Amino acid sequence: MTSRDTRILADFRAYCTNPECPICAMVSHAEVRTLQVFCAEGAGDELRRADIRNARGLCVHHGAMLRDARDALAAAVTALDVMTNLLRDLDGLERAPRWPKPRINRPKQCPVCTEMTRYNLAVCAGVLAWCDDAQFQMLVAQSHGICAPHLRMLASQAVLPAGFIAAQRMAWERVRADVAEYIRKRDDRFRHEPDAYEADAWRRAWFVISGSSYTVHE
Ligand SMILES: [Zn+2]
Ligand SMILES: [Zn+2]
Repeated sequence: MTSRDTRILADFRAYCTNPECPICAMVSHAEVRTLQVFCAEGAGDELRRADIRNARGLCVHHGAMLRDARDALAAAVTALDVMTNLLRDLDGLERAPRWPKPRINRPKQCPVCTEMTRYNLAVCAGVLAWCDDAQFQMLVAQSHGICAPHLRMLASQAVLPAGFIAAQRMAWERVRADVAEYIRKRDDRFRHEPDAYEADAWRRAWFVISGSSYTVHE
């Protein structure tokens, strides 16, 4: 067990109370932090700036996150650099001979996506390192469950212990039962019953079905 696995366990435990997959929550949180590092500090960090420049910016998802972020000056400094390079691409297109057909080279992958893919794999490795532990399994059983995309990812990397699968089943069965209860209360006969713990069950179910982190690819 590495110190990184222990750190991952501490974060996993903290996110288990969230209504979403704890791995997705960890990745989403790291995503915001990474974006800040790339743009706020990256504005003055030549290496990170080069990564963004070589990618000609960020992917549509991380670009949207940056537009919604509060640090307008960092977003502007990064944008200025990228726009300068986009204009250079345009220069190249203009100057190139008409034949063979001139094209703009494909940029490198979005650097935040690259970092998040790496982090996602590290978190999955941490979960696999702990998944045979009874206390860890209890955490999973009491959570709203690891999402289906992450579970499929974990299952593709190792033989999951029976105790871990049982814990995951408890979590998913609870979410499913809550959704059924939510639907039952929508029936005219039971509409007078006030909403309780099941009020957000449909949202939790969709966290399970699709996950909630954009950068998780199966
Ligand atoms: Zn997930
Ligand atoms: Zn991205």
